Amino acid sequence: MNFDGRSVLYGLYGYPVGHSVSPPMQNAAFAAYGIDAVYQSFNVEPAALAEAVKAIRSPGMGGVNLTIPHKRAVVKYLDKTEGKAAASGSVNTIVRRDGRLVGYSTDGEGFIRSLREEAGLDLIGKKVCLLGTGGAALALAVRLRREGVGALVVITRQASRDKIEWPTGVVSALEAVLTYEMVQADPKTLADCSLIVNATPLGMSPLEDAMPEIPCDVFRSGVVLYDLIYRPARTKLMCLAEAAGATVMNGLGMLVYQGAASFELWTGQPAPVAAMRIAATNALYQS
Ligand code: NAP
Repeated sequence: MNFDGRSVLYGLYGYPVGHSVSPPMQNAAFAAYGIDAVYQSFNVEPAALAEAVKAIRSPGMGGVNLTIPHKRAVVKYLDKTEGKAAASGSVNTIVRRDGRLVGYSTDGEGFIRSLREEAGLDLIGKKVCLLGTGGAALALAVRLRREGVGALVVITRQASRDKIEWPTGVVSALEAVLTYEMVQADPKTLADCSLIVNATPLGMSPLEDAMPEIPCDVFRSGVVLYDLIYRPARTKLMCLAEAAGATVMNGLGMLVYQGAASFELWTGQPAPVAAMRIAATNALYQS
């Protein structure tokens, strides 16, 4: 594809934006449909975010993704937020529609689609444990609640649950908010969890040797461990859980499906998920 003045520009705003998989993944999606568009990463310092968002209003731009540290900070510069973004106060996709900037969160959608397509897990009435209370964990809590999970147990380093900015609707689903020390002392709290989600950076490069300190006997056959980390492909926690008989998944599926949901918002077309997955896998693991 030759890019010229008619090509539409999409991008990723982050700081530092680093070595992201989103450009190869989204460019593979545009290429699969012959869409005249290009996607690239932009290193946007927090102080430059307002100006960078204004740029999305220019005619050549179609929209952007947001990553750390902009997901929450960007909300005040938008004309509107929709659905899960409105509930969680976190935006990872901006669409320019009729001259207005509309914010969405596709993280939860990506996670649920990955669980459904790759693990076939039915969440209704199930107990789910979330490790961490960062942007990803809280976005997933909103989505899990809407999917009809029976109860959420959240493990955090925070001494008080009042320190956490719980999104609308999540508090009523909380069965317990515990510290790692509390869970180690009383592992029974996690005994009937069907799904355990690592939403902390522990295990992610360069913290490959680290893992969240939860009792390993929670892992057994019938339990799914979903580690949001995709680099490395297998974390220490995943290896341990698998050895104990649990089903393990890394964050690649969520990454692909959240990108697919962004593509669908921008173009109105079903995303070429297989092409996006190949591009993401090559970018992550073949280099
Ligand atoms: P974040 O906002 O920085 O939150 C991470 C949370 O992890 C923190 O709020 C903290 O929760 C906990 N944490 C941080 N350092 C810790 C430590 N040393 N020990 C124990 N807990 C710690 O990050 P995020 O955006 O939510 O992302 C979390 C993870 O998900 C990252 O690994 C990220 O790469 C991954 N992710 C993957 C995808 C995907 O598509 N696969 C998408 C988004 C994020 P407490 O203070 O409550 O302990």
